Amino acid sequence: MSNKGNYVVSLSNLCKWLGQQAESLGVEIYPGFPAHQLILEDGAVKGVITGDLGVAKDGRHKDSFTPGMELRAKYTLFAEGARGSLSKQLGEIFALHKGCQPQKFGIGLKELWELAPGQHRKGLVLHGMGWPLDNETGGGLFLYHWGDNLCSVGFVVHLNYKNPWLDPFAEFQRAKTHPAIAKIFAGGKRIGYGARVITEGGYQSVPQLSFPGGALIGCAAGL
Ligand SMILES: Cc1cc2nc3c(=O)[nH]c(=O)nc-3n(C[C@H](O)[C@H](O)[C@H](O)COP(=O)(O)OP(=O)(O)OC[C@H]3O[C@@H](n4cnc5c(N)ncnc54)[C@H](O)[C@@H]3O)c2cc1C
Repeated sequence: MSNKGNYVVSLSNLCKWLGQQAESLGVEIYPGFPAHQLILEDGAVKGVITGDLGVAKDGRHKDSFTPGMELRAKYTLFAEGARGSLSKQLGEIFALHKGCQPQKFGIGLKELWELAPGQHRKGLVLHGMGWPLDNETGGGLFLYHWGDNLCSVGFVVHLNYKNPWLDPFAEFQRAKTHPAIAKIFAGGKRIGYGARVITEGGYQSVPQLSFPGGALIGCAAGL
């Protein structure tokens, strides 16, 4: 747990910056276009088709209808994050999970706070384990002070908990009432929040990563 001398960075800001670097090198980026379908030919992945645009809730094509684009490539890397829809299809089509342990998941909830002046300690990282979770439930709290008076605080709950009444979001809120934590947020303002699934199976749950025409990378691969 000793991480002195490292930097706390916002992954979101890092990705925005990386996107600009890639575009300046001539890489085309299509934000807002989900890869919807695999292009499979001769037993190999040849690319993806993006989703149709301009489809009404009842499936009717609106005037703005634009069919998805075929993006063809010699090699396609799938980086959909945990439980991606195309990654799951690839797992089945190429039996990528054969011979490895099933994947395990956790839920990560996170809030971004602007702290009251005097509460911010740039670079301070705190991790909490145990309370408010019981001994049957895995997970914990993380807290990063970064930027100008910003603090990212979050809570992870392993999704194999046994108590059916457990509410991960409520446990997160309870964790923030701990006297060592509550004082940090006194007078502060929550400016963003979200949640996302996390792969937790570890090395023994990593599937076969490559297949004809592509590979799984990042959380899509359980790395
Ligand atoms: C609360 C929380 C805290 C964390 N804290 C840390 C930490 O402190 N340090 C650390 O190292 N890691 C941390 N992690 C883990 C880290 O966020 C992930 O390991 C990392 O983001 C995985 O990167 P990725 O690019 O593989 O997937 P993601 O970051 O999940 O990115 C996948 C992207 O693909 C998009 N997408 C999915 N399907 C499609 C599709 N079909 N077409 C187009 N786009 C698609 C998604 O919308 C998403 O933007 C944390 C995770 C959580 C949830």
